[in-house]
Amino acid sequence: MPEVETASRRLTERFNATSTTDYVLERVPTRGRNREQLLEVWQRRGYRFVEFYADWQGNWWDGASNDAIVFARRDWSRGCPTGREPLSLVDRVWLRDYGEPLVDVRLACPRVHVSARLPYLRERVAAMLDTASSRLPRGLKLEARTCLRTLARQRRGYEKYLRRLRQAHPSWPESILRRESYRFYHPPDHRIAPGHCTGGAVDVLILGSDGQPLDFDSPFERVMPHCRPYAPGLSEVARRNRDLLINTMEAARFSNCVDEWWHYSYGDGPWAVRMGVPICWYGLVEAPKTKRRA
Ligand SMILES: [Zn+2]
Repeated sequence: MPEVETASRRLTERFNATSTTDYVLERVPTRGRNREQLLEVWQRRGYRFVEFYADWQGNWWDGASNDAIVFARRDWSRGCPTGREPLSLVDRVWLRDYGEPLVDVRLACPRVHVSARLPYLRERVAAMLDTASSRLPRGLKLEARTCLRTLARQRRGYEKYLRRLRQAHPSWPESILRRESYRFYHPPDHRIAPGHCTGGAVDVLILGSDGQPLDFDSPFERVMPHCRPYAPGLSEVARRNRDLLINTMEAARFSNCVDEWWHYSYGDGPWAVRMGVPICWYGLVEAPKTKRRA
């Protein structure tokens, strides 16, 4: 099946450029096992994210050799086959924005507590968020802390963080400073807009029945590298709460940023890289003019 060979080679080339030891791409003999049985084998081996390569007809194996082509990852954010989302890949994503409107999340998401200063998301994203919140166990709900962000505000945040890093690490070259600041701030001057400037990204956490945020961090402060969704050494409670958030948001079709447990998106450039798709549908969007700017 030459098209599978080609795609497999392309995936390997693409993902090896940014590979981590957590990531594997492997051709596996199926030996009569079905998809679920193979999935179980990989999960027993400790891989949390397992996908089978599918060709354009949805075939997940190479019919000629009866081999499955598996890509799997031990941890990190489950949406991302590479475990990273480098700007070099994000900038290669093809943008097709069909102009889906922004909606006011306070109206569109009655089951979400909204504390965002600029409470707007694309219509589909808002619907997904409300659905996610409704699927939480009784008494719990999502809080949306950041939704849309203007490009001007993104630029201010990015530059401030870059300045702080430069002061803290005067010996770091510019390239390292920029790479490190990207962990928290997508630069405002790249071809593909930062997720929060597209209406496709949202920062969320879960509120308990007392209205207070659940514990997502103990025993750490909210600093790198403990902000990564699958950071080791978390308390059992924090681990369980992060898993609940990840499972809830992923079930609603969001994907999770590799460096921030609270950041989820759908349809923006980084989402496309995490999902291994070459296209995204949300580009830079203007905030509604009648409302207070963040
Ligand atoms: Zn965010």
